Amino acid sequence: MLEYAEPITKLIDELKRLPSIGHKSAQRLAFHIMRTPDSELERLITAILEVKQRIVFCSICNNLTDIEPCRICASTSRDHSVICVVEEPHSLVAVEKTRSFKGVYHVLHGSLSPIRHIGPNELHLANLLPRLKPENNRPPAQAARPARHAHRDGDARR
Ligand SMILES: [Zn+2]
Repeated sequence: MLEYAEPITKLIDELKRLPSIGHKSAQRLAFHIMRTPDSELERLITAILEVKQRIVFCSICNNLTDIEPCRICASTSRDHSVICVVEEPHSLVAVEKTRSFKGVYHVLHGSLSPIRHIGPNELHLANLLPRLKPENNRPPAQAARPARHAHRDGDARR
């Protein structure tokens, strides 16, 4: 059986370690990489290294960020008494795209899954509990109230 040269096999094996990448996809990516000009590959490598070097978890909400705390937690125009708990950073981005939520977030980086042995200890919950203290939040009756109420004369208030 004809095999690829050792560096190609090594690249395919590394690509197969990525999520959702099987053997055929890894081969396709490896050949794409071999055809790609060095300058393009350097941009990809730089982007990967930059993410690894600059991105950290926000100490308040666990969002992925390049500044500490993240822009959402640092914002003075957001309602810090309303916390939207999401599973992953991409869920936060999806909510943000709606432009309708003006509170803050807490990112768990996963969800409970007894089958995969993911319990509460595997989720980023420790820094959520202090954020839920009553002094940090509106009373529940207010939490259920819409953020703005229109008056008959057309102006809005909280
Ligand atoms: Zn944050």
